[in-house]
Amino acid sequence: MERFRRYRELLEAKRLELERKQKVEGLDEVTPSHDAGDVAAANGHKEMVAMFQNMRTNLLHFVNLALDRIADDTYATCFHCEEPISEKRLNAVPEALLCIQCQEALDRGQLEAPELGALSA
Ligand SMILES: [Zn+2]
Repeated sequence: MERFRRYRELLEAKRLELERKQKVEGLDEVTPSHDAGDVAAANGHKEMVAMFQNMRTNLLHFVNLALDRIADDTYATCFHCEEPISEKRLNAVPEALLCIQCQEALDRGQLEAPELGALSA
């Protein structure tokens, strides 16, 4: 019985969903429009799409990393301090790589995590 099977399934479903959305929006972007108002709206829309795509690309990155960690059997261990990540946290955020303490420190800018910085850049 695979230890993290439930999380792997959650993460795989999440990855599929993210990839599907990326594709749909990629198609959206090439729709031409010549009306000035439409272009402005489309540009605003484009920025939003780009923003969401960025967020999703990052999320996808973390999801893939978490899946790698399941394969390596290092899943549910904090990337930074190597303490176990609580099940409650993993249920809420299956792609979490940091324990809640390290995540909070990172959010406050108090944690140096170049590995993660590179990922979220
Ligand atoms: Zn930690």
